[in-house]
Amino acid sequence: MPLPPNLLDSAVSLLRDLLRVETTNPGRPEAPAARLLAAYLESHGIAAELVEPAPGRTSLIAHLPGAGDPPALLLLSHIDTVPVPDTSSWAHGPFTAEMADGYLWGRGALDAKGQAAAHAATLVLLREKPLRRGVVLVAAADEERGGEMGVRWLRQHKPDTLRASYALGEGGGFKGSLGNRPYYTCAVAEKGSLDVRIHARGPSGHASVPPATMAPSLLVEAVRRITRLPWPWTPGEASTAFLRGLGRGQPLPRSLALRALASRPLGPFLLQRGFGLSGEQARALRTLFYTTATLTAIHADAGEAANVVPTEAEATINVRYLPGDSPDTVLTRIRQALRSLGNGVTAEAGTHSPARSAPLDTPLFQAIQETMGLSDPGVPTLPFLLPASTDLRELDVPGYGFFPLPHLPPEEAARLVHGHDERIRLDDLAFAIEATVEVARRVCDG
Ligand SMILES: [Zn+2]
Repeated sequence: MPLPPNLLDSAVSLLRDLLRVETTNPGRPEAPAARLLAAYLESHGIAAELVEPAPGRTSLIAHLPGAGDPPALLLLSHIDTVPVPDTSSWAHGPFTAEMADGYLWGRGALDAKGQAAAHAATLVLLREKPLRRGVVLVAAADEERGGEMGVRWLRQHKPDTLRASYALGEGGGFKGSLGNRPYYTCAVAEKGSLDVRIHARGPSGHASVPPATMAPSLLVEAVRRITRLPWPWTPGEASTAFLRGLGRGQPLPRSLALRALASRPLGPFLLQRGFGLSGEQARALRTLFYTTATLTAIHADAGEAANVVPTEAEATINVRYLPGDSPDTVLTRIRQALRSLGNGVTAEAGTHSPARSAPLDTPLFQAIQETMGLSDPGVPTLPFLLPASTDLRELDVPGYGFFPLPHLPPEEAARLVHGHDERIRLDDLAFAIEATVEVARRVCDG
């Protein structure tokens, strides 16, 4: 269904207003953005509830009722954004919502105020014809810092607001291509994230006569062991289906190689050899099959003195583990690797976000594939394991990260989301609204 021009205009102006209110997290509460969304929905006859676990930390909830319980679909987005470290490197200001070259520019245009505006416009369009089953919209606060003031809070204190058969969120919908064969991604699974704090202790001393073991060198050895751990190669359902879909229509031998990537014993071998992929592509592909452990912070100092051996040293390793694995198994593996270093080195779990994975045989995933088959004929929508983490992990219902943007390849999305010059193409925004309306209709009336 083509979008009525006045509806697109009002969605664009809503998004511009959302981009102009700075809701960078931490520090700038979401309330003004939540109020803008509420006013937009209410001007179209849709009541919105604002929930505020702490002053200004506002999430918005709105319902389109239907028969039956629970609602068929939860549309999930977030209205906080990551900060802008360097405003001067943007071609257009991050909070001025300028329109240039067919794009609307601003922090949050993609992640995820664009989706919040698209979901609001979707609700307005869906309201024109009664639905058999209902839809819930949640535009949450605090996604970028774990959802303690957003979806995680809703889950603990108002779980009814998150009830639905399926959820549509962020993390997919980009249009990639391999050898001129385009495809869309739909994030059906996400890796878990676990911060592991490594602490090393040792004797102090003079740097000119170094002790046999020292906190800094123990720490360096511990980090070296952890970041080089041979994690088991694990092809999950999402990645196996992704590669199978990617291989379809590719010339030989690439089609065979893609298929073999997800199978023993060739998979690990092929991944190691790269088989003609660029370094960046091969690195991205590896994350679909392996746990990664990345050193993200390191600290050791003995005050001002460069000639004193410090007694304590610390590092943080961010581990991204695959669905099916757990923080316990990750920590056990890490502790085993450190055992021979003795009691001076400890590994403790820090911040954690669980992994998630949704089945591929649900009415929502089918509706997404069918809708995209009509909207962009011949371009398949492939299930995808997102190596990162979104609010969908907090839900008890199958979640699908899908905000379809036909002119945004995944590599470019990776640069713009959390980077500078974040922007959304206006015709992509229109496409996303149309597609989301169609998906919702199929799920709710199907
Ligand atoms: Zn986001």
